[in-house]
Amino acid sequence: MRIGIYGGTFDPIHFGHLLLAESCRDACRLDRVIFVPARVSPHKLDVVIAPVRARLEMLELALAGFPEFRVSRVEVDRQGPSFTVDTLRHFRTEVPDDELFLLMGADSVTDFPRWREPQQILELATLVVVNRARAVPDLSALADLDTTGHPPLSVPMPGVDFSASDIRRRVQEGRSVRFQLPRPVEHYVRDKRLYAAS
Ligand code: ATP
Repeated sequence: MRIGIYGGTFDPIHFGHLLLAESCRDACRLDRVIFVPARVSPHKLDVVIAPVRARLEMLELALAGFPEFRVSRVEVDRQGPSFTVDTLRHFRTEVPDDELFLLMGADSVTDFPRWREPQQILELATLVVVNRARAVPDLSALADLDTTGHPPLSVPMPGVDFSASDIRRRVQEGRSVRFQLPRPVEHYVRDKRLYAAS
């Protein structure tokens, strides 16, 4: 099987995330996309994030009814910062015969060389990079790495300028986030008073 691994904070999951996953599923003929919420993102150590349980419940609400999309607890159940290389090693062991694709937005590939063990990541999976709004993936960020084993792929998606941090800010200001995230997730945010002004 061809498996997409899609890591993020998903605080909250929004239509930009879902469209990224669907664009990659379609373009790369993926059998499954596994959303992997980070317990603690090494890239966001200074940001206060919603509890794991809330982020998992929002993912479950957003992905219900889409059997190709799954959620993995592998990072939330592991102590310490969530390093992608550890996650890919986990899936390599769990599904040794499957082909792994690591999905990310254009902003993430720019940071990628500073991730833990980027060369190992490129040996374990094919990078699939999607434009973020109008930011086109710049694969030259990978120039100092050896990508000959698994050449990275660039996948276009209709530019959607949504971001979780902007959604959290809007909720805090009491502004509308309708049509930026699935309705059940919007209701969850409201009912649990996530991101509300304290
Ligand atoms: P924040 O605004 O808090 O930084 P985010 O919306 O970027 O959050 P993350 O969970 O950090 O959400 O993102 C996970 C991955 O999804 C990253 O690789 C990011 O580039 C990608 N991504 C998020 N939003 C979009 C979007 N609107 N279009 C394309 N890619 C996106």
